[in-house]
Amino acid sequence: MNVSLEEISTWNKDDVIYVDTRGEIAYNHGHIDRAVALEKVTDVEDKLPLDVTKKYVVYCTYGKNSKPIVDELRNLGYDAYNLEGGFRSWLLAYATGYDEDELLRYDRQIILPQIGSEGQKKLKNAKVLIVGAGGLGSPVALYLAGAGIGKIGIMDADNVSMTNLQRQIAFNETMLDENKAEATKKVLEKLNSKIRVQAYKEFLTPDNAERIISDYDFVIDGVDNFETKFLINDTCVLLKKPFCHAGILRFEGQVMTYVPDKSSCYRCIFEEIPDKGSIPNCSEAGVIGAMAGTIGSIQALEAIKYFTGAGELLTNRMFVFDALSMNTRIAKLPSKNPNCRVCGEHADIINIKENREEYLIEGCSVK
Ligand SMILES: [Zn+2]
Repeated sequence: MNVSLEEISTWNKDDVIYVDTRGEIAYNHGHIDRAVALEKVTDVEDKLPLDVTKKYVVYCTYGKNSKPIVDELRNLGYDAYNLEGGFRSWLLAYATGYDEDELLRYDRQIILPQIGSEGQKKLKNAKVLIVGAGGLGSPVALYLAGAGIGKIGIMDADNVSMTNLQRQIAFNETMLDENKAEATKKVLEKLNSKIRVQAYKEFLTPDNAERIISDYDFVIDGVDNFETKFLINDTCVLLKKPFCHAGILRFEGQVMTYVPDKSSCYRCIFEEIPDKGSIPNCSEAGVIGAMAGTIGSIQALEAIKYFTGAGELLTNRMFVFDALSMNTRIAKLPSKNPNCRVCGEHADIINIKENREEYLIEGCSVK
């Protein structure tokens, strides 16, 4: 027996008991107020004692899977009804903090048990800074804007050039010579007018790093020089901000995530900025655009997982991908390095500006 929300609104509120059948994960990420979680009818005695004065409104995600449970409950003597349109119809009608456009826009992720309506609210309140609007920054920015991250900062002093179009998918030929941060901002605002985007037409430097990063909850390392990678790490460690590191070269990529007090940092593993020229960059060694897209997408996933609490982050682990062999592996990273210069027991980097010489780049260019 189906019932609509409209019909339920005419019933006495105190007589209605909602029964959520979507499973524990979905329930914990948002449910109808005071709903009872019931996955299997065999649990009914423990979880849902029969009260003949009540009406039981049973729901799943869309209103189909809960039907057989309603039939079984009715057989057991419950005055049970199936909620038409399921939890989704309730979200559309009553969820607070969203308008209808937003619920439609984020529908496919709100119905995920690990995200739910509560997870979506967390994304809406989140602020992510993307350092570098290049091959990694492009897909990260697009996916985070699509997912509804409430505020996105995007930093880059470079202008869009013809060599960028092979992999930097936010850009097209009409944007040549525009500042990359500005151009990305325009694209993101067209994709999702519900979010705020701030463009920084500058590189991350020892002089602006603390000021800018302190305004955000999560940082994406989308740069291709080691000086700035270490600068992002050291600033995030000192300010206790989580960030996701990635590196790409040729057909290979790697990703790891730092969470303050929970994981080793980038400097714990790599210790010092490599000598200039000892490791080639993408402009010298080349890179496949789809590789940057794959790795950038993983960074976007890490940010979404961080805010929603879904799954496990790449903390103390390095995801490594070889696109030629299609081998992927997750390397376990050594735990916190006691000699780390920024998070170790006798850390000597305690102020970014005082160590500014460490991070300066000749002919600075962040891709
Ligand atoms: Zn460290």
